[in-house]
Amino acid sequence: MLKTKAKVWLRRRCAAWGKIDKSRLTQPGVRVLMYHDVEDVASNIYSVSTGMFEDQLKYLKDNFEIVSLRQAYEFLTGQKELKNTVIAVSMDDGRECIYYNAFPLLKKNNVPGCVFLTTADKGIVTKDQVKEMRAAGIEFGGHTRTHCLLSRAPLEQMKEEIVGCKADLEAVLSESIEFFAYPYGLRRHYNQLSRQIVQEAGYKCAFSAINGINYPGCELFDLKRTKIERDDSLESFKKIVNGALDCWSIFDSI
Ligand SMILES: [Zn+2]
Repeated sequence: MLKTKAKVWLRRRCAAWGKIDKSRLTQPGVRVLMYHDVEDVASNIYSVSTGMFEDQLKYLKDNFEIVSLRQAYEFLTGQKELKNTVIAVSMDDGRECIYYNAFPLLKKNNVPGCVFLTTADKGIVTKDQVKEMRAAGIEFGGHTRTHCLLSRAPLEQMKEEIVGCKADLEAVLSESIEFFAYPYGLRRHYNQLSRQIVQEAGYKCAFSAINGINYPGCELFDLKRTKIERDDSLESFKKIVNGALDCWSIFDSI
């Protein structure tokens, strides 16, 4: 507990002390932001308020090209040439607040986003909400059925969670589901076997929760993301999306 608190404190300090150092950004990359809930009554450190979420989207729109995950994938695989750093927005778990709070703001600001959905969890968006969001341009990716801790799951369960989640989404959306995000997502939460099953299931790439930016040609089943948390001020957010916490991957990789 103390360890977690110390980590939260240190992360916040790093974000606040960091500088926007444009010189570090000479190599263009693909930065995928990782959100969870968007709600005004914060239930956990990952939930961002609606006001803050919109301020963040506006900052991103003014300073970056915001792309869908499909486009992000095309940049990473060299199908499209990456000239400047681009940003993509992803939201894990797909709790109802994503439909009620995040979706209207994404639509209003014309920002694409991807929801990594745990298809058999409680409190998640309904099938109709999934269809409505998809029709409005929101992408969906797999996140297992029950937010399974893959590194601890027996083989059969791991397969069922990864393959089943893809099948659930494909049944609702009648399209191929190509992206996956490992639940919890740090190095210790998934392993080579889970990576392999994700690949064999037919996903084209997979995202971790290891902090950082991705460059074309990188390993597609270990993609990094940039976590945004409730306590990040707008000033910290600006620094974080410009790379101030990319070194944090050291902690996430333990
Ligand atoms: Zn999750």
